[in-house]
Amino acid sequence: MARLVMKFGGTSVADIDRIRNVARHVKREYDAGHEVAVVLSAMAGKTNELVAWCREAALLHDAREYDAVVSSGEQVTAGLLAIVLQDIGVPARSWQGWQLPIYTSNAHGSARIVEVNGAELIKRFAERNREVGVVAGFQGVHKETGRITTLGRGGSDTSAVAVAAAIHADRCDIYTDVDGIYTTDPRIVPRAHRLDRIAFEEMLEMASLGAKVMQVRSIELAMVHKVRIFVRSSFDKPEDIDPSGTPPGTLICAEEEIVEQEVVTGIAYTKDEAQISIRRVQDKPGVAAAIFGPLAEANINVDMIVQNVSEDGLTTDITFTVPAADYQRACAVLETARSNVGFKSLDGANDVAKVSVIGIGMRSHAGVAAKAFQALADRGINIRAISTSEIKFSLLIDADAAELAVRRLHSLYGLDK
Ligand code: ADP
Ligand code: ASP
Ligand code: MG
Repeated sequence: MARLVMKFGGTSVADIDRIRNVARHVKREYDAGHEVAVVLSAMAGKTNELVAWCREAALLHDAREYDAVVSSGEQVTAGLLAIVLQDIGVPARSWQGWQLPIYTSNAHGSARIVEVNGAELIKRFAERNREVGVVAGFQGVHKETGRITTLGRGGSDTSAVAVAAAIHADRCDIYTDVDGIYTTDPRIVPRAHRLDRIAFEEMLEMASLGAKVMQVRSIELAMVHKVRIFVRSSFDKPEDIDPSGTPPGTLICAEEEIVEQEVVTGIAYTKDEAQISIRRVQDKPGVAAAIFGPLAEANINVDMIVQNVSEDGLTTDITFTVPAADYQRACAVLETARSNVGFKSLDGANDVAKVSVIGIGMRSHAGVAAKAFQALADRGINIRAISTSEIKFSLLIDADAAELAVRRLHSLYGLDK
């Protein structure tokens, strides 16, 4: 007997028929003798609709009320699954974030989980014939104010890992609309192939750099609490699954569990960043602080930074990226700081993409990035900025070249199946 968390995403609970399919998956594990907690997303498209309603009601709205509205999608699916499970003879009870409770910070709209109380779920496994706990993902409650919070888009992944840690689950299974983690988004590159295993560090980079298959915080949490995650498809028929075999999927685990480490594991890309260039900045000590200090104070994350070598020894150009959503605000902050920084002009671009190549194997291999520069140059793709770290490098390019670049790099590093 094992203790499992099973998480199902929006497409997997999109209507009552699919919720029935989910219930049969849960019954399959329940009948095998396991203790099961389920974490659910809202029906596909529901959260988008709720967010749009808030915007329609008032463009600038109270974040606490936004959370009151958008958390409702998960309340519905959790209740529905409990109903369907009971109907097929599996004892089940739904739990909203505030009921368990799942305590979070009060950063409404992107709250962080502080503590999950799994005691009641565990008690019911023992006392009520392994009653299945169906937990509404994405939502929690702020302890001091008692107000409902949400964890940011894609947050039910994080709910699932947090519940798994709280009940000391043996595994956290993420059921989604793909049968695992691929070398890159299979919707963009049909030749992408499924990875059997991926290290936490690599998955963290993949997610941070654009692969939206798992929320970034869920991986951070899994690393800290050593929760093994298995990503698999919810569309397989429960009846067709061989209980003794290993289903197709990807294990997200510690690096030590991976025997054969490739140099490059995956490619991610995002169009969610914007480029800002500051021209003819005075080249003197303290300038970087004068630029990036005010941006940090405004809570704007700066990512890639390139400073050109000064030609005249007096002025230089600085280019960097910020989240596209913060682009206008960043420009406004810089204009305000202009007299203090001292620069000639400010320009930027929203139509850029960041393509990233990820792999723990890069630590022990030289020249991995250099190959990419040449390959993109051969395709006439201009690189606007570069950033590197131990296990990844990122290239900023024109947005309309993004898909071509991803496909080119995917085959360059031998990832095509
Ligand atoms: P869910 O609703 O189950 O949470 P998501 O839409 O959040 O599902 O995540 C699954 C999607 O992530 C897939 O349909 C796929 O298009 C996308 N995706 C992006 N990058 C990858 C990748 N490297 N591997 C697998 N899926 C990826
Ligand atoms: N329903 C929420 C969203 O769409 C949370 C999730 O699906 O993970 O962001
Ligand atoms: Mg998701």
